[in-house]
Amino acid sequence: MRTSIQVGRIIGIPIRLHFTFIFILPVIVLWFAEAPGPVGLGETEELSRLFRYSLAALAASLFFLSLLLHEISHSYVAMRYGTKIRSITLFIFGGLAMMEDLPREPEKEWRIAIAGPLMSFAIGGAFLFTYFGIKTVKLVIYDPFTILMFSIGLLNVVLATFNLLPAFPMDGGRILRAFLAKRMQFLEATRRAVLVGKTFAVIMGIVGFMPDPFMLYSTGEVRILFNPWLTLIAVFLYIAATEEESATIMVATLEGTKVRNVMRTENASVLADMPITELAEKMLKEKNAEYAVVSDRGDLRGLITFSEIKELSTEQRHSLKISDIISPVDRLSAVISQEEEVIEALKRMIRGKKNILAVEEEGGGEIIGVITKRDIVMHIEILKGGS
Ligand SMILES: [Zn+2]
Repeated sequence: MRTSIQVGRIIGIPIRLHFTFIFILPVIVLWFAEAPGPVGLGETEELSRLFRYSLAALAASLFFLSLLLHEISHSYVAMRYGTKIRSITLFIFGGLAMMEDLPREPEKEWRIAIAGPLMSFAIGGAFLFTYFGIKTVKLVIYDPFTILMFSIGLLNVVLATFNLLPAFPMDGGRILRAFLAKRMQFLEATRRAVLVGKTFAVIMGIVGFMPDPFMLYSTGEVRILFNPWLTLIAVFLYIAATEEESATIMVATLEGTKVRNVMRTENASVLADMPITELAEKMLKEKNAEYAVVSDRGDLRGLITFSEIKELSTEQRHSLKISDIISPVDRLSAVISQEEEVIEALKRMIRGKKNILAVEEEGGGEIIGVITKRDIVMHIEILKGGS
């Protein structure tokens, strides 16, 4: 499912809008238009509704431009370290730069992480400085504009400060991990940063629903002190921290493991002219769901998995052969050398949306086996020692 659309490119990076962002856009405009001063235009009744909402739309655009500049700063520094930026996506909780092969040197990681908040502080500072400058010299300027100046300035400062919380995977959490990684192994540093991040997420989740203690004490009225929005962000952070932790554990566990250590060489291939019924029986007997398909001369013809034969009707299974249903393979994306890293195999599977690759001898020889996602997952479990 496509959940985001590309709207342009900045310094070569595709900029995408997630559907949750498009959904939140009118809410942000409404907030700028109706929130009371000094952050919103809610108290400028003298303005026409159309003008007020136009200004609010302008403010929303400026705010999202700020988010974008924050992500571009991260990306710019990362690109200078040779990281490929696949895209920047704006979604309901802000921006996200998708980076490939992030450097794992602490010196680089903290610089990439701090670039975003520094940019937000700079933008916020510039707006607030101008705002207070205008206030001090009492320049006559149209009031709604100064409100927006203050609002955008404040939001950027809040954005920078919030991102600097040591809540992994937020920027502050990444800086914390880089700091820890100078003293211990990367994996251990990640585990600790994730633990701090999860703790923050839980606290944030609770704070989001916390009643205002003063209000409760003085009037007995229950009013939420902060915002349930915080709870939503906390849930998102918790999930993101968990995912990043397991991804890091996986990469760290597989480090140095070659395809030949994980590949399956027995019962790895089937002949292209094998009937589907026979293949189904073979899968049952050998408890394998993926095979390389070869010609009788041993050339790779394709890859076949259980999910592809599952779709077939009983008649089709009886009448068809493997060669009838496989699609031609692109050798580059379907084959990997036995001397490659397993992490590389996994990346290719993810990129090609496949659970299997054929394995060849080093230097482009014969197909000698297959490597599957299932084999890799099992290998990780064994290496981790079942913990
Ligand atoms: Zn950031």
